[in-house]
Order: sequence, then C-alpha cells, then structure tokens
Amino acid sequence: MPASLDDFQVISTIGTGSYGTCKKICRKKDGKILVWKEMEYGSMTEAEKQMLVSEVNLLRELHHQHIVKYYDRIIDRTKAMIYIIMEYCEGGDLATLIAANKKNGESITEDFAWKILIQTTLALKECHRRKNGQAVLHRDLKPANVFLDKDSNVKLGDFGLARVLHSESSFAQTYVGTPYYMSPELVNNLSYNEKSDIWALGCMMYELCALSPPFTASNQSELNRKIRLGDFPRLPLKYSIELDMIIRKMIQVEVSQRPSIGSILADPLVQKRREALECNVVSTRT
Ligand code: ATP
Ligand code: MG
Ligand code: MG
Repeated sequence: MPASLDDFQVISTIGTGSYGTCKKICRKKDGKILVWKEMEYGSMTEAEKQMLVSEVNLLRELHHQHIVKYYDRIIDRTKAMIYIIMEYCEGGDLATLIAANKKNGESITEDFAWKILIQTTLALKECHRRKNGQAVLHRDLKPANVFLDKDSNVKLGDFGLARVLHSESSFAQTYVGTPYYMSPELVNNLSYNEKSDIWALGCMMYELCALSPPFTASNQSELNRKIRLGDFPRLPLKYSIELDMIIRKMIQVEVSQRPSIGSILADPLVQKRREALECNVVSTRT
C-alpha cells in the first residue's frame, strides 16, 4: 500500500530551499526519523509533474551507502502538494559546514578532506554507472547538496530535481545562484558530461579546504573569463601537495586531461587513503 501523510508525524522544519521546504518527520509505525521535501505542484505543467515523478522513481533505484536514500513520494491532491520522503542526514550539509568554519576561523583536517573526496567520488561512480538507458549525471554538485550522516560520512543528495522543474530550458540558463562551479565547457555552451561533474567535485573540494571557491568574481563575465583561464591559488599550506594536485587535476580546463572517476579511484594515494578510511575514524576539524 502506498504511504499516506497520516503515516508520519512532522517533528520540525529544517529549512526552505528554492523548490520547497524540508521537514524532519517520524514514521509512526516504527519511530524511524526521516525527512520529507514538500513541493507545491499546482504551478507545474503536466509534463513537469510527469518528469518529477519519473525522476523520483529513478532515485528510488539508486541504492548506495553514499547516496541519500529516497523512500517514497506522496501526492496530496487536495493540497496540490508532493512530498518526497528520504533519509535524514543528521550531520547537515557541507555548505553549512563551510559557513561555520569561515565564521569560527576553523578548517577541516587533511584526513577529512580525503574522506569527502573519496566518498563523493564513490557516490558519483554509482550515478554514472547506471548506463542502461539513463546515466544519472548529478549536474548540481555543490556543498549544499552533499550531506553528512551522524558519523560524518557523505550522503550525496538533491539530484536533478531542480533540473526537472526547469526542464524546458538548458541547465546553464537555469543555474540558481552564482555558478562558481560551472565548468569551462558549460561556460562555452557545450554539452554537460561526466567530466563536468568532476570539475564541480574539484571546485567543491577546493572550497571545502580553502573556504572560498577557486574562481570568484563580482560579475558573470569576469567569472566566465577566470573559469576559461583556469588559474587559481594553491590550497592553504596546511594541506599536502598531493591533495592540492589531485584537486587541481579535477579543475583542468581541458576536458580530456581531467581524470575520470575510474582514474581517481585507481590513484595509489587514493587507494591507500581509502583503505585507511575503512578501518579508521576520521575527525572533521583541526
Ligand atoms: P535548493 O532548493 O537549491 O536545493 P536548499 O538545499 O537550501 O536549496 P532544500 O534542498 O529544500 O533547499 O533543503 C532545505 C534544508 O533542508 C537545507 O538546510 C538542507 O540542508 C536540509 N536538508 C535537505 N535534505 C536533507 C536531508 N535528507 N537530511 C537533513 N537535512 C536535509
Ligand atoms: Mg541550503
Ligand atoms: Mg538542496
């Protein structure tokens, strides 16, 4: 039987984004804490609603330890609302972590940076792996979409829901907020591909460590110019040259020189770090 609103009790509001509000909820039958994202569908076209539903159905098939688990969706016809039920990520999102570190003059540890890099890469690998018909490109990889569970493990979330809701126009035109992570190929209006997710991953890792994106500007054309040039400062010196190098390779203007997910994971240093991760607990702060 499909879930109904009565199966859940709302605990609190977590926050409101561009497409709806996230609430912490409790599943009555077993007390499990989950999250739902409420969205008004009254203003969506029939085609947009269809796409949203098929996107959610696709997400429900992604089962991976580093991807936010989607449970269900409820459509309430009287309120014209759709509720997307998903795993609760207690550790919040990386945008909040970056903001807190900036405010407190703190920074993440080298170990934690590698952990985020590796676990996000593994999540992207799972998305890109789904080649049978429909590979899932994330397209909106940014700190606000990378969540942490209670043990500070990565949970990649918020897949192309934004894209679905703006299906008529291209991604570049509908980018919400300042597109600091837009790759040179997107800036040049070329098509999005798996390597564009790698570029965004590099930018996100850079910002997580340096607390500011690799490319910043006060206007779009200046930002585009910097992205096309591809020059940005070294990571703060507390981070190793190896970490700086791997992030630098991801933020490579030339698409063919950017590493694939496979080559990132095959890197001996990444493999060593990954083994260490599997037996150690890594702290998040200095
Ligand atoms: P956008 O609309 O661009 O995605 P946003 O990320 O701020 O913007 P939402 O995705 O609606 O908006 O999220 C609202 C708030 O809920 C954010 O603070 C986000 O961190 C939090 N949130 C979203 N999903 C979860 C989740 N699964 N577990 C815990 N917190 C979540
Ligand atoms: Mg947010
Ligand atoms: Mg979001």
